[in-house]
Amino acid sequence: MIIGIDLGTTNSLAACFTGEGAEIISNRLGKRLTPSVVAVDGENNILVGETAKEYGLVHPERMAQVFKRSMGSGKKFRLGGREFRADELSSFVLRSLKEDAEAFLGEPVTEAVISVPAYFDDKRRKATRRAGELAGLTVERIISEPTAAAISYGLYEKTKNTRFLVFDLGGGTFDVSILELFQNILEVRAVAGDNYLGGEDFTEILVAEFLEKNGMDADRLSEKEIAKLYREAELAKKQFSEKNEVTLRYPYEGEEKTLSVTLDRYETLCEPLLEKIRRPIQRSLSDAHVRLSEVDEVVLVGGATRLPVVRNFIVKLFRKFPDTTVHPDEAVALGAAVQAAMKERREEVKEVILTDVCSFTLGTEVSVERARGLYESGHFLPIIERNTVIPASRTERVYTLHDNQEIIRVRVLQGESRFAQNNLYLGELEIRVPKKKAGEEAVDITYTYDINSLLEVEVTVVSTGEVKKQIIRGKDNDLTPEEIGERMKELAYLKIPPREQEENRLLLLKGERIYEESTGEERVLLDVWLRAFEDALETRDAGVIGDARRELKERLKEFEEWNQD
Ligand code: AMP
Repeated sequence: MIIGIDLGTTNSLAACFTGEGAEIISNRLGKRLTPSVVAVDGENNILVGETAKEYGLVHPERMAQVFKRSMGSGKKFRLGGREFRADELSSFVLRSLKEDAEAFLGEPVTEAVISVPAYFDDKRRKATRRAGELAGLTVERIISEPTAAAISYGLYEKTKNTRFLVFDLGGGTFDVSILELFQNILEVRAVAGDNYLGGEDFTEILVAEFLEKNGMDADRLSEKEIAKLYREAELAKKQFSEKNEVTLRYPYEGEEKTLSVTLDRYETLCEPLLEKIRRPIQRSLSDAHVRLSEVDEVVLVGGATRLPVVRNFIVKLFRKFPDTTVHPDEAVALGAAVQAAMKERREEVKEVILTDVCSFTLGTEVSVERARGLYESGHFLPIIERNTVIPASRTERVYTLHDNQEIIRVRVLQGESRFAQNNLYLGELEIRVPKKKAGEEAVDITYTYDINSLLEVEVTVVSTGEVKKQIIRGKDNDLTPEEIGERMKELAYLKIPPREQEENRLLLLKGERIYEESTGEERVLLDVWLRAFEDALETRDAGVIGDARRELKERLKEFEEWNQD
């Protein structure tokens, strides 16, 4: 079975399509969300999700998170003395989800549909595909998150022609998409976004306010202290869903520092962020030639859309209440699973034609005439403009620049800058032209871009009809199956702890962290509890371990609650 995966900045999750529809797959801890966090412990065990998060509280230098933001970039993350790229870290998360899906379905899982922000460029999409391959998954399709969300809301089943705006505010990325349903065609009309805006920024606002009001300096806090402060701020932020005033509590140097914030004050503090949200909305509307008032429905995706400040902002802007019938954290994964079912041509899902748009401009480098006969090189000529519905095919004609020019070189670029050098280089091809005077020979450059992000470039010499074609794959991006195999071997020194032990491990890590945060008598008590649990683990008797785990869990919970009061 092909599963659907939402590989998120903060959390990831998998879903599958069963007889009853799309269903979220619980992970080994029984949770629906797996934090997109990876750690490597002292024995080279890879920890993923909540366990990695817990481990990272005590060993932040061995933990990585928010790596989705660096997908497809050269950035390296150092964990326990070794370096990893974002696609490698993501592959560990995917592998964990794959194992959970296998346990849930009782069969091997080797294929997946993985979602990415609509705004991800080619390089990032390829890195995502590679992450899947490194995790042992064939990536059947990379689907844009808003499209997946729209599918999960069943928007494609509506009978009336409708315009939707999908508002997706995740942990670290913001995406807006305008979709239009016309008969049974669901078309993405425009996408816009901000790769550096998300729920984390709304947490950071509280942290900054806390530090300022308490006269504290972030530079004087250790990495661990900062991490704890962010954790407290995130808890406080989430409470806005239920309360009009929240209090952030943070123990520091023997005293408890606090910050109380009302929803009104928080709204004021968030104004610059809300302003940043407005821009991609406007851009997507104008690219789609749709007016604000013409949006029929607003669909919310991403954990951060639960924030009342964000919801209020949307209601004020669109003058309508957003559709929240699907859990905003789960919409994308569910949609990816429906898409997987469509790929499998399952009877239960209605055949729907999905079209997507190219989320960036594809073009080539040209020289432009500055003054008569004076050319300046390095300019960008757009061929397929961003937000063109794909599959798309467009042609532009370019002429020779010099007398007796023999070769025309087509550099394939992606990006929005007027200047070639600021855009992403994808590849190039050359074609010979007959020697003539400058401007007398020309080639037609045709770009064809399909739904799987494959770009075909065809160059035709106008005078001779000679044709050259090439499929452009991003430079140094695609790994051959052999290279993937090599990389997997390189990573083989890492061990994957058995799935069944994860819950015990997480509990021990939690106990150790609480021990580190405590002192005196409390430590003695915690030590006794933890040792009792370790003894139980030694027995290797599932019944004994189960009882001890429940007991320790209960004790730690009470201990934490008691400490927070
Ligand atoms: P995602 O990447 O979609 O999982 O979004 C995660 C983001 O949503 C994080 O920044 C969370 O802090 C935020 N989030 C999750 N639940 C809530 C909530 N109840 N209220 C406010 N923010 C939330």
